[in-house]
Amino acid sequence: MKFLTLENGQLGALLGDTVVDLVAAEAALSVDLSIETLAELVTAGDAVAARAWSLAEQALERQCACRSMSEVTPLAPIPEPRRNILCLGKNYLEHVQEVAAKMKQASRAPRRPIIFTKATTAVIAAGEPIPSYPDYTQKLDYEAELALIIGTGGRDIPPEQAWEHVFGYTAMNDISARDLQKEHLQWFRAKSLDGFAPMGPVVVHRSVMPAPADIEVQCFVNGEQRQSSTFDQLIFDVPEIISVLSAGMTLLPGDIIATGTPAGVGMGFTPPKYLQPGDEVVVEVTGVGALRNPVVR
Ligand code: MG
Repeated sequence: MKFLTLENGQLGALLGDTVVDLVAAEAALSVDLSIETLAELVTAGDAVAARAWSLAEQALERQCACRSMSEVTPLAPIPEPRRNILCLGKNYLEHVQEVAAKMKQASRAPRRPIIFTKATTAVIAAGEPIPSYPDYTQKLDYEAELALIIGTGGRDIPPEQAWEHVFGYTAMNDISARDLQKEHLQWFRAKSLDGFAPMGPVVVHRSVMPAPADIEVQCFVNGEQRQSSTFDQLIFDVPEIISVLSAGMTLLPGDIIATGTPAGVGMGFTPPKYLQPGDEVVVEVTGVGALRNPVVR
């Protein structure tokens, strides 16, 4: 079960290489889901998602409301999140070590999750340009991440129930201006300029999510592999992330949680390999496909 947001903002499903326009399919096949967007589907829950998927399968069988994925330019899955993206910092040990080496910091794993947020206005889709802001930063960096999409909200969620609150996952590039990150002490501005949260192209439902060890999180810049790890390498895993974030703070349907980045960011190289105008940066997360964005001046 893979869903996406079509050019017009409406809900689509991806079956193989075929995209079904679910709102058009509803009308054509006289099915009433009362769902028009992916954000609404996430809020409606797993049973409605299963019905939406079954409608997509029927539409594919009848070749109605279908297009090839190559003809579709999806928007970000949730183009306008209702609040900031929740993010984990330093959640892969080798990344902690590469940052520590550059910043002369301790290289041990954090004792508690490091949590920050990115502005909703940073979100862009696959294919959209990442501005390089040469007037504001000379240290533009990439961070490949798996982002969780919360389905059922809740507060004080125990670790053993955490996965029940996950609708699915997508890919995100946590674009970061390293100089601003250092200057302002807190990371919010460095990670929130417009275009600093490429996301998509699809959301994979939890029911078809591979085991964490089988999910690769990778980044390529101009075809060169920079980052590669698997989702079981997190220091703080999904149950712990969700139980900590929801402790005394309500998680909402549609909340996005970026789970941290593996080693291999630009700042970790000697000399550093920061992004430049003309580069193409690709985040690949197993099941989600390629989140491909050009960097522009
Ligand atoms: Mg990050």
